[in-house]
Amino acid sequence: MRGKLVVGNWKMNGGLRQNDALLAELRVGWTAPPMRGLAVCVSYPYLWQAQAALSGSAIAWGAQNVSEHAGGAYTGEVSVAMVAEFGCRYAIVGHSERRAWYGESDGVVAAKATAALAAGLTPIVCVGETLAEREAGTTEAVVLRQLDAVAAKLGERIGAVVIAYEPVWAIGTGRTASPAEAQTVHRLLRKRLSRVDAAAADVLLLYGGSVKADNAKALFAGADIDGALVGGASLKADEFLAIAHA
Ligand code: PEP
Repeated sequence: MRGKLVVGNWKMNGGLRQNDALLAELRVGWTAPPMRGLAVCVSYPYLWQAQAALSGSAIAWGAQNVSEHAGGAYTGEVSVAMVAEFGCRYAIVGHSERRAWYGESDGVVAAKATAALAAGLTPIVCVGETLAEREAGTTEAVVLRQLDAVAAKLGERIGAVVIAYEPVWAIGTGRTASPAEAQTVHRLLRKRLSRVDAAAADVLLLYGGSVKADNAKALFAGADIDGALVGGASLKADEFLAIAHA
């Protein structure tokens, strides 16, 4: 049976003092029901802080990006080995903000997922269509192209990743995909995964895009929706915990 997973993406937010408070509230407030996972993906400078605050708890932590390169002359980049040294379980790869603003291609995202897996991290691979792509009726083609690029590189190891379906038009906009819209794309992704490898049919599929405490339950009712990748609402402990407990 697949479990459930809720992951917070803090994006470029945080500060030492507010992180301390947020992490402590999460640690106290998370009741860790069986088969339910909770994690936060923080900016690189705070990985040590997440590790210190969450070690020994039921909450995991991770990075929001990793380099596809192992090391060397890549100024400003952070390798998977560095991230792994801070006890990370997860690394988000291919977030739409990285694809849009830092030019990350499907190939680069696949390389990052491969590097993360090799370092013992679980990549959370983001896929999702823009509003223009949805309106042009190309949602399926876009998300399958993004998924296929990673699957082609990983082969049966695709079963070890987490996929987050994040329609770009729903990220940070307050506009959420309806539970039916989200479920339709999740079903499509799961079918495609099961064609790559039977075990991959059990990959955790998260929905992301303006998930809040008041819409989480309806979204999680989708048969192929295994949890959420949460941006803005992960910065408030009570809201994030309410989503996770939903
Ligand atoms: C995200 O950035 O991954 C995200 C889902 O953001 P938000 O929840 O703020 O829409």
